[in-house]
Amino acid sequence: MSGTDFDVVIVGAGFAGMYMLHRLRGMGFSARVLEAGDGVGGTWYWNRYPGARCDVESMQYSFQFSDELQQQWNWSERYAPQPEILRYANHVADRFDLRRDITFNTRVTSAAFDEAADRWIIETAGGATLSARFCVMATGCLSAPNKPTIEGLESFRGAVYHTGEWPHEGVDFSGKRVGVIGTGSSAIQSIPIMARQAAQLFVFQRTPNYTVPAHNGPLDPAYQKAVKADYARLRARAKSNPGGIDLSFNDRSALSATPEERRREYEARWAEGGFAFMGAFGDLMFVQEANDTAADFVRGKIREIVKDPAVAEALSPRNVIGCKRLCVDTGYWETFNRPNVTLVDVSDRPIEAITATGVRANGRDYELDAIVFATGFDAMTGALLRIDIRGVHGQALKDKWREGPKSYLGLAMAGFPNLFTITGPGSPSVLTNMLPSIEQHVDWIADCLAYLRRQGLKRVEPSREAEEAWVAHARDVAGISLRATCSSWYVGANIPGKPRVFMPYIGGFPAYVQKCQQVVANGYEGFTVA
Ligand code: FAD
Ligand code: NAP
Repeated sequence: MSGTDFDVVIVGAGFAGMYMLHRLRGMGFSARVLEAGDGVGGTWYWNRYPGARCDVESMQYSFQFSDELQQQWNWSERYAPQPEILRYANHVADRFDLRRDITFNTRVTSAAFDEAADRWIIETAGGATLSARFCVMATGCLSAPNKPTIEGLESFRGAVYHTGEWPHEGVDFSGKRVGVIGTGSSAIQSIPIMARQAAQLFVFQRTPNYTVPAHNGPLDPAYQKAVKADYARLRARAKSNPGGIDLSFNDRSALSATPEERRREYEARWAEGGFAFMGAFGDLMFVQEANDTAADFVRGKIREIVKDPAVAEALSPRNVIGCKRLCVDTGYWETFNRPNVTLVDVSDRPIEAITATGVRANGRDYELDAIVFATGFDAMTGALLRIDIRGVHGQALKDKWREGPKSYLGLAMAGFPNLFTITGPGSPSVLTNMLPSIEQHVDWIADCLAYLRRQGLKRVEPSREAEEAWVAHARDVAGISLRATCSSWYVGANIPGKPRVFMPYIGGFPAYVQKCQQVVANGYEGFTVA
């Protein structure tokens, strides 16, 4: 690391940190990125489990800030696999010569605001101290692995993995007895592949989950060419949709359609694959009876595909479809027809213990050689709260957020001047295609820093009133959707003791962007600048 005083320190070298660095450098700011891993890519650096791939189509899950980049990069599949997305991240780092301002293998442990100097003092696990006028947390929404404490885990003699910290050299499960804990997106992607390798696979399911087929495959070169010929239009269409994805949406109410019309619509979207399924009708996420029709359709598919009726029943979710993030799979339900795959339903009684030789559940011992925790993340707030962040008067972020995260627009927090979060709680983030959301936040922050520099200002911070008003608004709009009705990681339900607050902003990408633009147009309305 050359020098320790910067205009900006950025924490994290995923897509957010990389693009932030590129923007700031282009504006002549001195910036340094600190990254815990030994490479770029964030999510795609850490999540190397078998089957990991994007669930937003690759042509859309990609940067758009450089037209040359999006024209020259070629995706091989409709949904790119993790190694290809990681190659893309590395390509971006090389192409824009980012590495020289990134320090790898460096975990930030604390960041404290020095009020006298108006600077952030940032400390790392290795004992380094840096100072910066501004600090940008690009630490990720899904980057703090959730490792449940299950009695006896330390006594297990086999191998233990977490999907979010997968070994770089890969894992060969051939001939092994493997237990997977969890049935979220990570599990649903990896189970079909692990089942093909392992001698025996036991899936410990606490809550059954909805998944729709990806129908992944090689990307048609003609389609890729057509998109590139008019990329700007596709990107604009995507950004006009609440999720920042170009998908076909049907505005019609599911309840105004006949059962036969509904079946036809759901079948067509099931055949199309991916998130388009939830665009079948306009009221699926707002009206319970409408949602029931889509959920019934998927439960019918499970019964058709899974041969053992008792297993099909145990796999069938009962909650609102789309309440937890919908999963997108390749051969998930079919996997339960394999003779070497056993579903272990732990919905009534939690896993009792992990023993030296396996998992004890429902009074039975499952002998295992390896356990895979596909148990997700302490989402949205986890990575931030694992850093000791202190604002004015030494206030700790963990105290400010004791009853749930409070942030103005998911961008900045009252009492924490000159600190920004990319896709922080209170922004659409995880409810959208993350790449456009990241770009929008990075551009907003870069523009704000340029404004301060032009005006000769040193300090920016949201007012408590503006923050409270945004938090209240975000809470109110969350209530109009069925998404807030279940125990998901969106509300922190997966982490014992975490406050139950719907964390992302559900008002949609276009409305949110408009609000951010209006704040700027009104002279950084809601912010105090000095
Ligand atoms: P991350 O990629 O999480 O990067 C954050 C970086 O910060 C990490 O490298 C981490 O090591 C570093 N960091 C954190 N704390 C510290 C610290 N204290 N000190 C130093 N470094 C630190 N989104 C979609 O839109 N579409 C998808 O298809 C999709 N698929 C996903 C699949 C998986 C398996 C997961 C887990 C998430 C997926 N997401 C998807 C969400 C995904 O996280 C975002 O799309 C995006 O990659 C986030 O980029 P980021 O830079 O904001 O955060
Ligand atoms: P997740 O959705 O939070 O799923 C975790 C699973 O582990 C759930 O089934 C959960 O059960 C279970 N679990 C947690 N603790 C447990 C315990 N103590 N005992 C038994 N079961 C336990 O995590 P994830 O699958 O890693 O996905 C997180 C998010 O990352 C996704 O929602 C998505 O946004 C993103 N992601 C995307 C993709 C993709 O397709 N591109 C792939 C992976 C991840 P409960 O439901 O009962 O809590």
